[in-house]
Amino acid sequence: MPDHDHQEMKLATIIKKARKLSRRHCISDAKKFRLKDVDANDTGSFTSEDKPRAKEALQIGVEALAQLQDMLYAQDRWALLLIFQAMDAAGKDGAIKHVMSGVNPQGCQVASFKAPSAEELDHDYLWRCQKHLPERGRIGIFNRSYYEEVLVVRVHPNILQSQKIAPKLIGDDIWQKRYRDIGSFERYLSNNGVMIRKFFLHVSRKEQKRRFLERLENPEKHWKFSATDAKERSYWNDYMEAYEDLIRNTATEKAPWYVVPADNKWYTRAVVAAAVIDALASLDLHYPKVTEEKLKELAAAKKALLAEK
Ligand code: ATP
Ligand code: MG
Repeated sequence: MPDHDHQEMKLATIIKKARKLSRRHCISDAKKFRLKDVDANDTGSFTSEDKPRAKEALQIGVEALAQLQDMLYAQDRWALLLIFQAMDAAGKDGAIKHVMSGVNPQGCQVASFKAPSAEELDHDYLWRCQKHLPERGRIGIFNRSYYEEVLVVRVHPNILQSQKIAPKLIGDDIWQKRYRDIGSFERYLSNNGVMIRKFFLHVSRKEQKRRFLERLENPEKHWKFSATDAKERSYWNDYMEAYEDLIRNTATEKAPWYVVPADNKWYTRAVVAAAVIDALASLDLHYPKVTEEKLKELAAAKKALLAEK
């Protein structure tokens, strides 16, 4: 079999496996979604003995992803936006780092959204995110996003008061309105060729405690710990309710949510990589076709190079 065909077959097999793994965690029936039904410690068909096998699969997945991303870039028609949301220490940074480790940095851009600056508060909340949307041919990653507007802002209503929004615009239906606006925005993006995939890395409260303690005990991890993170922990149930409600209201076919079990980092990373592969594979990517004219041009260039003394 020619090498090229062999490669294509290998990619097709990887895509099939990626689809199966990721779709288990994709929310397809939003109205029925309950966070309680998701086990943060779930590792699918892998047991902890399979950890090396899962890591190997991730490595193969990362290579396949790089191949797909190269086509996305060459074709220059679609963009992919990946949104990551999670409680602290759920492993957002690590997942982003590992899954994107093989892709060409030129085809990928990461934006992190923290508490808004004074300038950002002078605008509507989508403004700062819009500035970081991926261009055609690229993968954009949001480390936190406009979803904070229905998460941290909902859990701490005093934040809403400091957002400079006129009081008459703040009614009881504000969260429903935000869900609708976010839905419209995502539909608009999808109609313009920006494919969206959203990930909630679901860590358990117990595992978060373990990871916080590890950060406190290991001097090399001290920088990762902040007292605010520990404070947010006491609002755990409020956050879980907010997550459940937002997923029920914003998971759509075009912009689905993946609720990824996050107590085992190796499994989280495998699922995220699989979902990204599945998304890119559904775009039917191909390298741009070379025209007859271009082929002639290439042949002439080759001839000229060979004729050089
Ligand atoms: P890490 O802690 O791993 O470095 P992080 O994403 O938690 O990464 P932080 O520096 O802790 O980064 O900042 C994020 C904080 O900003 C979170 O507590 C988040 O809830 C908050 N934040 C993000 N967007 C908003 C917003 N629109 N309004 C208020 N707070 C926000
Ligand atoms: Mg933090």
